Amino acid sequence: MDVKRSRSPRAPAEDDKKRAGGWRSSGVRPEMVLVGFLLTLPLLFLVFGGRWGSSSFPSSSSSSSATSSPPVVSKPVARHVDAGDRGATPQGQKPVALKNVSASTATSVSQDKLLGGLLSAAFDESSCQSRYKSNLYRKPSPFPLSPYLAQKLRKYEAYHKKCGPGTKRYRRAVKQLKAGRNADNSECKYVVWFPCNGLGNRMLTIASTFLYALLTDRVLLMHVSAEQEGLFCEPFPGSSWVLPGNFPQNNPHKLHIGAPESYANMLKSNVVRNDVDPSSVPASSLPAYVYLHVEQFQLKLSDNVFCDEDQVMLGKFNWMILKSDSYFAPALFLTPMFEAELAKMFPQKEAVFHHLGRYLFHPTNRVWGIIRRYYEAYLARVDEKIGFQIRIFPEKPIKFENMYDQLMRCVREQRLLPELGTAELPTTNATADAGNGNGKVRAVLIASLYSGYYEKIRGMYYESPTKNGEIVAVFQPSHEEQQQYTSNEHNQKALAEIYLLSYCDKITMSAWSTFGYVAYSFAGVKPWILLRPDWNRETSDVACVRSTSVEPCLHSSPILGCRAKRDVDVAAVKPYVRHCEDVGFGLKLFDS
Ligand code: GDP
Repeated sequence: MDVKRSRSPRAPAEDDKKRAGGWRSSGVRPEMVLVGFLLTLPLLFLVFGGRWGSSSFPSSSSSSSATSSPPVVSKPVARHVDAGDRGATPQGQKPVALKNVSASTATSVSQDKLLGGLLSAAFDESSCQSRYKSNLYRKPSPFPLSPYLAQKLRKYEAYHKKCGPGTKRYRRAVKQLKAGRNADNSECKYVVWFPCNGLGNRMLTIASTFLYALLTDRVLLMHVSAEQEGLFCEPFPGSSWVLPGNFPQNNPHKLHIGAPESYANMLKSNVVRNDVDPSSVPASSLPAYVYLHVEQFQLKLSDNVFCDEDQVMLGKFNWMILKSDSYFAPALFLTPMFEAELAKMFPQKEAVFHHLGRYLFHPTNRVWGIIRRYYEAYLARVDEKIGFQIRIFPEKPIKFENMYDQLMRCVREQRLLPELGTAELPTTNATADAGNGNGKVRAVLIASLYSGYYEKIRGMYYESPTKNGEIVAVFQPSHEEQQQYTSNEHNQKALAEIYLLSYCDKITMSAWSTFGYVAYSFAGVKPWILLRPDWNRETSDVACVRSTSVEPCLHSSPILGCRAKRDVDVAAVKPYVRHCEDVGFGLKLFDS
């Protein structure tokens, strides 16, 4: 394995200290803040009207609203259709008329709640509470949204509504697909996402496919398998992204790297050619759909289609089915014909998943209930939240003691938690005050399939005080012991934990984990990555390195210039691409 260390600067803790300082001036106790806040509440309300909920102090605002309202009881997953729980629509069910656009809510949702225009105002808030509430648990995004991207999303929403399931145009396109041939001059084009791997992988590939849809004017439809039902709300107002169950090519297992429908195999068998003038190929001469298999294969991205000549040809297909295990958004940045558009959409390149993820993914009320209850119970009132995500991969298992030791080394080196004192030390107020941490509570949120890390860290801070008098509270929402790809309940917990991690101020995560990538990217926080030991070793010399970007890593790079097959190092020629800290041959977008 080629874990890159030399280019993985350990960012000084100074950055974070400054940010944290901006959040919470030292010496101010939470009770004082609360009393002051209550006294000024009427005044604040007069000045800001309904905007207080999106203040830059998410913990307080959200917790105050929570304490004044009764706890949310999670609803059963709705079988009827509404804007929030449409993600639960079973594949076999027909789309029903949509009622999710409400003029009154459209005007009542403030710009802050809409994340500066990232989110559409055209949803009924109660049908998907997380859409406008989840971000109140986070610090404001450090990445301003480009107005161009906001505009592009609104245009896309209109297009999706025009061509999505339940429309005449969709029925016409399906009829054409069933007829077994592609059509000339189609008004609507589609990309159908098929699932692959765990939830983190799926979220990264859905976002990549959506970006591809935006760039190629396709409607994104998603095959929702049973284990994914009821996880996400609908992202596009007045329509659905769920592929209707009666879609003719609805079997994700039928399509694989060797399938004759794959673009790479069509090229091999001369069903399509990318070395002719594409304008000379009538769309109606092509098969009814094309399959794109975008998968890590021999350390490269397979179906190497990220070049202009292939994209022009692929653009002629009205139906595309795509399956991927990789966050392939960076590969779109390497396709010359998309470069200018992407530059307008993302002036800050490291914010691609950060924005698209926050736009697309909203846990349904059921999952949001889990998230919210946990957050309000354990995290809302603490001074700082630190997430530890520990993922042990079966292909490179790491012994518990080694992983724990590595985590602790990282914690010590990066000063992520206060040092332990000895229980015998006098604990007078004067001693505690001298430590300057009196009353400060840090929460450690652990996400792991196993409980051992939680037990040990909690035990450590239970048995001994901290040197500076701070309190460290340790929490772990679940320990499922095993990954269960096909369990819906398991995936609900996984999604809840991704979100809870994403509310943390600092994140330390296991190398290679897409679960962790999604969490830190939502948060907009550069994580400390616990490096994987080399293949022939049990431990890693370097405990952790700071990521240079909040973008997820594409684990396998595409070959630049498809036909030329130039195997150049992309990171050496593109100024906005780097190798990932945790995957030496992987690629990551970043801003210098
Ligand atoms: P990756 O394999 O780490 O890249 O992440 P994925 O999300 O694609 O797949 C791992 C799957 O294992 C998750 O989707 C969960 O189903 C499960 N899993 C792994 N770690 C955790 C965890 O900390 N908490 C929970 N609840 N599930 C986990």
